[in-house]
Amino acid sequence: MPQVDVEMRDNSVNFLRTKLSVRSQDVHSPVTFSVIISMHAFADLLQSPLEAMADSVKISVNHTNFYYGSNQALYDVSMQIRPQFVTALIGPSGCGKSTFLRSLNRMNDLIPGARLEGKVELDGENIYSDDMDVIHLRRRVGMIFQRSNPFPMSIYDNVAYGVRVNGLAKRRLQLDEIVEKTLTAAALWDEVKDRLSRSALSLSGGQQQRLCIARALAVEPEVILMDEPASALDPISTAKIEELIYNLKRNYTIIVVTHNMQQAARVSDETGFFLTGRLVEFNETKKIFTAPVNRETEDYITGRFG
Ligand code: ADP
Repeated sequence: MPQVDVEMRDNSVNFLRTKLSVRSQDVHSPVTFSVIISMHAFADLLQSPLEAMADSVKISVNHTNFYYGSNQALYDVSMQIRPQFVTALIGPSGCGKSTFLRSLNRMNDLIPGARLEGKVELDGENIYSDDMDVIHLRRRVGMIFQRSNPFPMSIYDNVAYGVRVNGLAKRRLQLDEIVEKTLTAAALWDEVKDRLSRSALSLSGGQQQRLCIARALAVEPEVILMDEPASALDPISTAKIEELIYNLKRNYTIIVVTHNMQQAARVSDETGFFLTGRLVEFNETKKIFTAPVNRETEDYITGRFG
């Protein structure tokens, strides 16, 4: 009887590879075949954790309208955001991407006259219910802005800030561990480990953005919202942020607004295309970029407008 071992590698939709080893006792020497196959070819045979994730929903947005005073910025938007996926939001300026993103952790609450109708659920819980603890919500759903905004304090204190404010560390030693762990997760530790007490403002733009990501990670969020996180950065720093986004999704659900369609295609699993406040199309990224259903999506991704 041949024995078949199947080993799952790398939990990404786009890059998941399955290594299949077949050992046969029927031959004198063991024979091992290593075959790289696509996850889709194996979908019938394997109930992978990824498939289970694809069926579950981290954030559910249902028929939401959003208003700044009398100006409506979002119209009847519904979207199901998968856990441990990167979801990209694309569309021309002013189409409501940032408004939508900020509505996912009630950041818009801070704007006078702003109002949302409809329902936004995080793990099935309505985040706009009266008894929602908004501070706790924003810990669970962290945010990274276009312009990095490190606090004018040391690198260490930037990362430790939220941990201290929320009383998450029991002692100094544990705080040190959290700082190292999150700077490592943000791919910054090796560059700053010898100068943790230096001002965060002494870092380059790309390093500052990764520091802000580390600061967000330090309070153990489940979801990270990113509003054009690399648009102010040079190409090398942008590549580092993209690689980081790709690696972070193993542990977090990420929603990223981007103007850069190549970036959306590179980093995301699913993409939503917004136009004048409406979600025109939402689908797997490769479908959006290779076979969009909607004419307006096609016109946008092929550069006919935007
Ligand atoms: P995008 O992120 O796609 O560029 P936004 O969500 O920033 O779009 O903007 C959507 C619409 O909401 C635009 O018409 C914009 O002018 C308006 N808007 C955005 N922020 C505010 C605000 N703080 N106050 C009033 N109107 C706003």
